Amino acid sequence: GYQKVLEENRRLYNQVQDLKGNIRVYCRVRPFLPGKPSSFSTIGNIEDGTITILTHSKNGKEGRKVFTFNKVFGPAATQGEVFSDTQPLIRSVLDGYNVCIFAYGQTGSGKTHTMSGPRELTDESMGVNYRALNDLFLLSKQRKDSTSYDIYVQMIEIYNEQVRDLLVIDGSNKRVEIRNSSQNGVNVPEANLVPVSSTSDVIHLMNIGQRNRAVSATALNDRSSRSHSCLTVHVHGKELASGTITRGCMHLVDLAGSERVDKSEVVGERLKEAQHINKSLSALGDVISSLAQKNSHVPYRNSKLTQLLQDSLGGQAKTLMFVHISPDPESLGETISTLKFAERVSAVELGAARVNKDSSEVKDLKEQVASLKAALARKE
Ligand code: ADP
Ligand code: MG
Repeated sequence: GYQKVLEENRRLYNQVQDLKGNIRVYCRVRPFLPGKPSSFSTIGNIEDGTITILTHSKNGKEGRKVFTFNKVFGPAATQGEVFSDTQPLIRSVLDGYNVCIFAYGQTGSGKTHTMSGPRELTDESMGVNYRALNDLFLLSKQRKDSTSYDIYVQMIEIYNEQVRDLLVIDGSNKRVEIRNSSQNGVNVPEANLVPVSSTSDVIHLMNIGQRNRAVSATALNDRSSRSHSCLTVHVHGKELASGTITRGCMHLVDLAGSERVDKSEVVGERLKEAQHINKSLSALGDVISSLAQKNSHVPYRNSKLTQLLQDSLGGQAKTLMFVHISPDPESLGETISTLKFAERVSAVELGAARVNKDSSEVKDLKEQVASLKAALARKE
């Protein structure tokens, strides 16, 4: 019963995803951290695209919630495995597609690990950013007899709805503006645009960016968890025979921590930050979910983040959201709200199905499957 419903659930989810086109949602579970073991994990069964979250209510009753995504990476997944599922998307930039990759989740759930990696980088631990650029370098060399490519990067930060260039050498923390009409696909023209052609170029620039981010953090506050950072890769290609120009652009975004702060407990600066984060993350959710639902109006104007990404969200552009969760029991509330956000952006209600041992829950699920089937039939 349960197993069959799960399979049906997943099959329909994939069908709906295919209809919707270019929005993908991957879930990644961080492992328990060394030195911080826990009596139990909130993560139950993981199978391809489904993940079961174990919930414990106050009266000790155990429950399960099942969520469905394009892919779920368990705590043992390596950086290489995560990248290999992302590679086709990244490669499409060379063919002139625009791509956005987001890391979403509460602080400490593994966003920076996925995008950049740990502080001490090794070949194995490198995150998506480095691997993506390496792959683009490699592929552009392979294609050099047919197409010549120039690759540039920009790195900016959005903090309290202000945009700053992270690739400034003098640490001046320069404010820059987003332009509506992009020139050659560059919509933050004042931010440094740096040509790159090797891994060491990239590592050098990332270090500058990270240092600039750290400089602006106060001693008490790790600002990196309360700002969005965006590495943008611009690819200009010229087909040698025909002279055809292609321009692709990829944004790799390490989002601010999604945790809800208790408004009764924070005041002043901290409250302002929290409100800005809330606003921009929900603006992002609104944009992606209205794209997923193919709404005619997409509300890009509601935040700097969505304005920045406007040309790369929607249309032919491809979007991948990595949602990160922690296995810790004390994070359960945030884990559920993260997964609910993820569900909203993928605009499919399937995952919300709660499956208890109770057969009435299975009945609910079956009803949802039936209504999705009906929805699918209407689309065909
Ligand atoms: P975030 O950027 O979401 O705040 P981090 O990426 O900094 O979270 O991760 C928090 C801690 O967990 C870091 O010490 C990081 O190295 C570790 N970590 C996160 N994800 C993984 C993973 N998949 N494997 C091993 N360690 C991880
Ligand atoms: Mg981080």
